[in-house]
Amino acid sequence: MTQSSHRPAADRCPGVFSTHTAADGAVARIRLPGGRIRADQLQILAQAAAEHADGYLEPTVRANLQLRGITDTDAVARAVIAAGLAPSTTHDKARNIEVSPLTGRIGGRADVRPIADRLDDLLRADPATAELSGRFLFGVDDGRGDIIARRPDAGARVDSVGADKTIVAVIEAGGVSLGLATGVDAIADALLSVARAVVEIAPDAWRVTDLSPAERAALATVVSEPLAPLSPIPLPPIPLSPVPLSPAQDATDDPAPAPASDPTVGWFTQDDGRILLGAVVELGRLPARLAEFLAAIEAPIILTPDREILICDLTEEVAETVVRVLAPMGLIFDATSPWARVTCCVGAPGCAKGLAPVRADLAERVRSGEPVDDLEHWVGCARGCGSPAGRHLHVEAMPDGEYRREVSIGLPHHD
Ligand code: SF4
Repeated sequence: MTQSSHRPAADRCPGVFSTHTAADGAVARIRLPGGRIRADQLQILAQAAAEHADGYLEPTVRANLQLRGITDTDAVARAVIAAGLAPSTTHDKARNIEVSPLTGRIGGRADVRPIADRLDDLLRADPATAELSGRFLFGVDDGRGDIIARRPDAGARVDSVGADKTIVAVIEAGGVSLGLATGVDAIADALLSVARAVVEIAPDAWRVTDLSPAERAALATVVSEPLAPLSPIPLPPIPLSPVPLSPAQDATDDPAPAPASDPTVGWFTQDDGRILLGAVVELGRLPARLAEFLAAIEAPIILTPDREILICDLTEEVAETVVRVLAPMGLIFDATSPWARVTCCVGAPGCAKGLAPVRADLAERVRSGEPVDDLEHWVGCARGCGSPAGRHLHVEAMPDGEYRREVSIGLPHHD
């Protein structure tokens, strides 16, 4: 085994059982593989946020949920366990599994949720992967290219689907394609093998990008051994065509195509004819009271890595009611809202490292009416917490209180 020294500091990524202490109280992060959360689970977390934290739920850049300002960490942990959202104490922080948010509902080459479920089972059953850093990221992409573009440490992208529905996926480690795996079990096995290889070869690494060239070569050798060779001509990604918010939208309409980078915000018709609503909230903070109303819809909820909240499997009638009731309460269903394009970290005073009151400054910037043309992420210091994975305008507070603006490609990212 090659020993490396990539993690100069302790792994302080918060989890449910090891919270982070910030200036405004403890922070707990709840991993949601694939960003999925049931209505009853959301209800429990909303209650915990109201009673034991600052009253908000914060979707993160890895489609997890965060509570901050916690006054009773044990009570929050008990609530998360009761909700069934902390199935492992040993692997709590290792379950960073991003999945194409629309998979199985809109587009994509296959429904990849079974792959994520199988991977989660394998991960929790493997003692070795409890040593993964809290930043290690798994990604399961249904062929549209949205998740693999985020360069997960261990990634699978659907390449083709056989007549018998068998999925064939390209397996990647740190953005490098290593071969093809066939079938849900083999694909999940291959993703786990990347994680096992990192723990074995470079146990101190945060992410695959930290590995030396020799360590990466060793990883590639181990992981690719059971895989089939790559096909010579990769298939192009499948673009998503979002539909502007319109309760009257009919599945037979011909919406104007939009770039894949457009927010998944608004009214969408699922492949099965039901409706999916995408929303964002101001400053990425979902008030507990609003979360309780969301839970009352009793629909599946998906959080996306772009901090969107997807309300799935609705009838048109229910969807229209949801928009009518929840929009005035703060759920933003308008894709043209500036809040669909701006995100931020907590900044001062909630974070002791913050050089400026980022939330207040960003809110003022939005209220000013100045157009938001590109994705913007505002942070209170150079650590850049919660930076998006893709290209965006990085707005960083400086010691003099001013903000520096620069275009960032955004990789690698962490919550
Ligand atoms: S980017 Fe800096 S100020 Fe913002 S939350 Fe992270 S450490 Fe705190």
